[in-house]
Amino acid sequence: MVTKNSDQERREEKWRPQTRLVRGGTRRSSFGETSEALFLASGYVYDSPETAEARFKGEAEGYIYSRYGNPTVAMFERRLALLEGADDCRGTASGMAAVFAALMALVRAGDYVVSSRALFGSCQFIVAEILPRFGVETTFVDGPDLDQWRAALRPGTKAVFLESPSNPTLEIIDLKAVCDLAHTVGARVVVDNVFATPVLQHPFDFGADIVVYSATKHIDGQGRCLGGAVLGSKEFINEELTPFYRHTGPSLSPFNAWVLLKGLETLDLRVAAHCSNAHIIADFLEGRNGITRVLYPGLPSHPQHALASAQMKDAGTLVTFELEGGKDRAFQFLKSLKLIEISNNLGDTKSLVTHPATTTHQRLTPEERAGMGISDGMVRISVGLEDVEDIKEDLAQALACG
Ligand SMILES: *Cc1c(COP(=O)(O)O)cnc(C)c1O
Repeated sequence: MVTKNSDQERREEKWRPQTRLVRGGTRRSSFGETSEALFLASGYVYDSPETAEARFKGEAEGYIYSRYGNPTVAMFERRLALLEGADDCRGTASGMAAVFAALMALVRAGDYVVSSRALFGSCQFIVAEILPRFGVETTFVDGPDLDQWRAALRPGTKAVFLESPSNPTLEIIDLKAVCDLAHTVGARVVVDNVFATPVLQHPFDFGADIVVYSATKHIDGQGRCLGGAVLGSKEFINEELTPFYRHTGPSLSPFNAWVLLKGLETLDLRVAAHCSNAHIIADFLEGRNGITRVLYPGLPSHPQHALASAQMKDAGTLVTFELEGGKDRAFQFLKSLKLIEISNNLGDTKSLVTHPATTTHQRLTPEERAGMGISDGMVRISVGLEDVEDIKEDLAQALACG
């Protein structure tokens, strides 16, 4: 909830993206602070019982309780909505809170949901395990295969969920084609845009209805706090998401919202520098001895390179590759790294490496992993903002070990 300020809102909407990132959503208190204020407040006081009554009835503007809304959280929501070109936004405590709230706001027992198969592990758990517990039928398809979408979508399908690029294989899904197919059967499309970041891809331009983020990743980008966001139309946010959100409590902490607001100010600069380093690392790895495959949407060898170039402003900050020799070789490689650290986080200024088969995707059966294209020799690097020569040197020395 952003306090009404129409002049300010009209000015903000004319700004270009970088200006929106630095200034969008800023609402100064009477003290005139330069930086956005941190309203570390759980509740609010009313000047009279009539004011309290009017706010609870929704007849007067103003905050009630920070589970419902908070001024610092509202600044973050407004800034992200401006960047994304969305009507409205709700901040959430984590990316998973955003995914879960968005889906739960859409479905009821008896509904049907179609999802891409290559998903972040916890997103896969929600679609495969949690939704069916509440009587929602779900089907997975290979995201890039439009025939599978056509076959799975049926009249009355309530929601489509997808991630592009996907984790960790960096598959690209044709957003416009899938949104068009989904809309012909009346389904709403929820896009998890974490890997693309809000600066590289705007799913609403291709017809998406709802966009979700883990702000923990590139939006913070400095390994400090968890957060997330759901973006969509005013009707969806107010009438469907808000009743679920208010009463179940996935609210974003004002402190984390403040950190994330400051993260947004440098987001496009950081993402551009991450992408530049990631291109160099992908080129460096491709064709090297002992590496069977490099997956990076910016490489001409990527199966959906042309689609990635059309749909995204740049190819992203993650590079995945496959080492000859399976898990033993992958573990030996990870242990030989001296600069790049082992962590499942991503989008951080520090370069981080993970072995998806034994971490983010270890809960799946070997067959499910194979279905997602995740092999035991697969390694995912979140390319950081160090000098790229130091990243290359570390990879080269670790590849030479053993
Ligand atoms: C990390 C991640 C999430 C979950 O976000 P949290 O902030 O960790 O809850 C969801 N989707 C994708 C693609 C992610 O990378």
